[in-house]
Amino acid sequence: MRSVITVLTLAVLLAGPLSGSADAVPGYPPMRWEEASRANYTAGRAGAIRRIVVHATHGSYRGAISWFRSPSAKASAHYIIRASDGEITQMVREADTAWHVRGANRDSIGIEHEYEPGRVGFTDAQYRSSAELVCAITRRYGLRADRATVIGHVEVPGSDHTDPGPNWSWSYYMSLVARCSGASAAAAPWIITSAASPGGAVPPPGLGPGADGAAVRSLQDRLVALGFLRAADAATAPGRFGPFTEAAVLGFQRANGVPATGYYGSLSAAAMTRTVEQAAAVPVEQLSLGARSEAVSTLQSLLRSLGHLDVVTGYFGPQTEAAVRRFQAANGVPATGVYGPLTRSALASRAR
Ligand SMILES: [Zn+2]
Repeated sequence: MRSVITVLTLAVLLAGPLSGSADAVPGYPPMRWEEASRANYTAGRAGAIRRIVVHATHGSYRGAISWFRSPSAKASAHYIIRASDGEITQMVREADTAWHVRGANRDSIGIEHEYEPGRVGFTDAQYRSSAELVCAITRRYGLRADRATVIGHVEVPGSDHTDPGPNWSWSYYMSLVARCSGASAAAAPWIITSAASPGGAVPPPGLGPGADGAAVRSLQDRLVALGFLRAADAATAPGRFGPFTEAAVLGFQRANGVPATGYYGSLSAAAMTRTVEQAAAVPVEQLSLGARSEAVSTLQSLLRSLGHLDVVTGYFGPQTEAAVRRFQAANGVPATGVYGPLTRSALASRAR
């Protein structure tokens, strides 16, 4: 009898955590579950969830997971996100209180991001998974997906921690959050997501709610490419200037210093021409150490015009890598030395 109870208890213990993980909640990104030591968090909550706190691990992903599993840590987080591919591990149920930020545990969810100074920087995959997770959490609890809700550990009143630190790009992160939460991408004037149509004409001005036709279709394509309109929303009424298109135009106007009217007039068209030209002027492909091409020359010319590099050789050597790093560090982009989408967006906004 006793052994039967033991087996049953074991079965319940083994099944328990999985049934409580966020896997079961619709709309959440995929994730794995590895429970923190129960000595490192409080079961249940003393208050409603109101905030999401962004952390950086200052150690490896595996190291942070092991630490939170160790009963001596006296610390934990709900989620940890790996740098290399954005994998998410959940360690504490949202309904339970993780110990990640003194003074704000009771009403917050903590997300750790793998980061090791000088070794592992924040990555695009990591920003994207984290933004998806934040969108799912804000939807679930009816929170606004803005910087009042999503804060850094450093911003918690009385905090003596500095994470996520200066290498974390809030503007990029919040632009991703704005997009998946359905808000406008007004926070991100420099996000240029698509290289599908660099250069070329932008739609002629004079488009507003109720308009339809090829010019509206072209405007929608531009807004999608620039990250202000979701492709799925555009597809609900292609070629018709409806509420989604109007919201996207408003977002574009706010991001570009044009009066926010929702009407695509001559000021908006001029701003869009500028944006498209800037996007076309920077190399589209990823470039890194060892590359040799015309695109490398273009990149070097731009870096030289910004004062980060002296010579243009067409070869991506250590000097160019160092220049890319300096540019990244100066523009809130993870300083990887690799020229990728984030760096391209930042460069497009700086290149004149
Ligand atoms: Zn922290």
